[in-house]
Amino acid sequence: MESYKGLSPSQFFYRNREIAGFSNPVRSLYQAVRELLENSLDATETHGILPNITLEIRPHTNNNQSDKVTIRIEDNGIGIPIAEVPNVFARVFYGSKYVLRQARGVFGLGVKMAVLYAQITTATPIYVKSSTIDSETEYEYKLFIDIERNLPIILQLNVFKKKKKWHGTIVELTIQGNWSQARRRIKEYIRRTALIAPYATIRLITPENSVEYKRVSRKLPEPPQIGKYHPRGVDIELLKMLIRAADKKLTLVDFLSKYFDGVGKKTALNFCKWAEFNPNHKIKRLTLSDLEKLANKMHQYDKWRRPKPLTLSPLGDTLLREGVRRILEPEFVTAISRPPSSYSGNPFIIETALAWGGKVPVSDSPLLLRFANRIPLLYDESVDVSRKIIDSIDWSIYKVKFPAPLAIITHICSTKIPFKGVGKEAIAEVPEVEKELNIAIRETARRLRRHISRIEKIYEIKRKEVTITKYMDEVARALSYIVNDDDSEEIIKKKLMKLLKKEIGKKGIVTGEMKNVAKAKTPRG
Ligand code: ADP
Ligand code: MG
Repeated sequence: MESYKGLSPSQFFYRNREIAGFSNPVRSLYQAVRELLENSLDATETHGILPNITLEIRPHTNNNQSDKVTIRIEDNGIGIPIAEVPNVFARVFYGSKYVLRQARGVFGLGVKMAVLYAQITTATPIYVKSSTIDSETEYEYKLFIDIERNLPIILQLNVFKKKKKWHGTIVELTIQGNWSQARRRIKEYIRRTALIAPYATIRLITPENSVEYKRVSRKLPEPPQIGKYHPRGVDIELLKMLIRAADKKLTLVDFLSKYFDGVGKKTALNFCKWAEFNPNHKIKRLTLSDLEKLANKMHQYDKWRRPKPLTLSPLGDTLLREGVRRILEPEFVTAISRPPSSYSGNPFIIETALAWGGKVPVSDSPLLLRFANRIPLLYDESVDVSRKIIDSIDWSIYKVKFPAPLAIITHICSTKIPFKGVGKEAIAEVPEVEKELNIAIRETARRLRRHISRIEKIYEIKRKEVTITKYMDEVARALSYIVNDDDSEEIIKKKLMKLLKKEIGKKGIVTGEMKNVAKAKTPRG
């Protein structure tokens, strides 16, 4: 006889933890660090707080084997209300980010995977200490997950009166990990996070050393707002859900203009006319087949306004430039933040930067650093749309000859990132996204070409300057001899210098720039 039963979400992820990145001690350590750091960043920057984050990684012994590793993170975020702590850390699919707003986390899953993994591999509970901004108390929890029922088990709860004014969260976990093999990737991940968050101070304490990325800007990007759905992105279930929550007396035209992004009464009326719906139809009378037709028509209608990008929080070109400068230390950097665009009803913004020279490593093709909603993407670069675009560009048009010190940075912000596959490490070739990336990358490349031309010109003048000054004395002396006037030597020299300066001026180059370049090495590319 077969026996039948259901599977709780915790059980599902307990059995299939590799789906969420917890496959082996190397990858799991990396993934756990990511989940914790991303939550800390979401709890700060999304709420207008300049992040101060300290991450400590403590392997229990010093051999190169898989071992118990303790991860501790402390942030100055908004904290978690005392009653919510058990659920947010020990119940799969529980969180505060199930809204239409750009965030690093979206599933309400990440940290629970780390807790689950700790529980399975080292039998230790998660430790959480937190306090919210207006709370008078701070509290400590030790939690396990009841895997079969997908519910928290509270092992310990302590509540204290807050002694000093603080808010934020401290989390500590001990998992089976392999620090020596995960080290490089974790450090690279944090370095790239520091690039995309120049307003954050992130400290990383490891057995070898402690590294601090101090913030280079106190400007936070405008936090994202919670948005409405775009009419082009709906499906039947979403319509049902919205109607269930709405006032039942609402007419179709009011429903559309109240619940959807960029839809006013006029647009709603025009749509109803086009789709052959009675605008005064009460929404509770809509049948399932009406809803199917409505969803289809909403997809097809091509006169909706573009989705509003208020739910997004791009970095902006200034911050992006500062971030790139902080981490790559190039000789030249330029960045672009494109205007909002959309695909299938989802707003998105593309930002790119280009870094050249200085400490940018020299390589045979452009170095690529990819980000999605400010998360660094380290895997699957070869199938990412950005790689495809960069490889299709003939860089010699932009005066670049490889090997060269060139790095391209791409960032996509969206409430729905078009990932390729479940790995969530590569962006798919959505035509709208590809087009925006192409425009942005090529524009930064044109700016690089202008920069390189300028440097070339300066070198050319520099060479002339050297030649002229070398022969100046001799020429001046000879000329003054010819005109038979000893005093004219100085005058002739001055005139020659003036001619040289005029030449420099004609090329639109200021003298300060000449000096800078004189210090730089030979032009590359
Ligand atoms: P997600 O980040 O996808 O929402 P997680 O399981 O990683 O899912 O986190 C669940 C929830 O826990 C978050 O939505 C957030 O509300 C809360 N949370 C986790 N870590 C922190 C933190 N450091 N500060 C404040 N809230 C946090
Ligand atoms: Mg998360």
